[in-house]
Amino acid sequence: MKAPVMPKPGQCKWTEGDSGSYTFPCKNRAENGSYCDHHRTIVYETPEQRKARAEEMRAANAAANKKRLAA
Ligand SMILES: [Zn+2]
Repeated sequence: MKAPVMPKPGQCKWTEGDSGSYTFPCKNRAENGSYCDHHRTIVYETPEQRKARAEEMRAANAAANKKRLAA
């Protein structure tokens, strides 16, 4: 098992993978805290924002299904 690769100081700490084999694919600078601007919006998403995004997905899927039925 290879040693975990840690992000460089100042690098975004966005992780991918599962326990034991993380990677830090994001090469962006972390300006204020642990993450770049892009990943900070995902990591610190509020439950309300998460719910709103889930609703959007549901609505988009419903619209797609309707289109399929009409065709
Ligand atoms: Zn990032």
